[in-house]
Amino acid sequence: MKTLMVTDPEMCTECEACINACKKEYGVARARKTSTIPVFCMQCHPDKAPCSRICPTGAIENIDGTLKVNEDNCILCKLCLIACPIGIIAIDYDKGSAEKCTLCLESDKLIPACVEACKDNVLNIFSIEDLQELKDDENITQELEEAIKTFKTKS
Ligand code: SF4
Ligand code: SF4
Repeated sequence: MKTLMVTDPEMCTECEACINACKKEYGVARARKTSTIPVFCMQCHPDKAPCSRICPTGAIENIDGTLKVNEDNCILCKLCLIACPIGIIAIDYDKGSAEKCTLCLESDKLIPACVEACKDNVLNIFSIEDLQELKDDENITQELEEAIKTFKTKS
């Protein structure tokens, strides 16, 4: 079951607990704080992710639908850093490898460390199926359409 992280930027208090939890877990933070909110890997489709497609050694591997850097195969050319549209690939200079969020695929955590650390409920994990159900919910679709209309009339 593929999972995605959904963030609610309005709830973020900029405490950076998520970034610190990631750094504690992996040595380097695989998420990054912008001038305001933290940003996370979008978990692009494994066949289409620019980071994986550009890697000359095939080091960014598809493990059950989640892309993970195989540190043994990374030559630290940094092409994936350039290719990622949101610049979220990190580097672990100690390991000599690129680092990428896997939603804690390699740990035995039930939920990712960042989600666990956020006490403001900014970060949430959804399955693709859950998100599809929300998308199919007519009430939510109508609310979204109304919100977009309001936004357009104000801008
Ligand atoms: S830095 Fe490593 S993972 Fe990134 S493109 Fe180069 S070899 Fe691949
Ligand atoms: S690192 Fe960037 S390109 Fe790769 S899956 Fe995440 S968001 Fe997509």
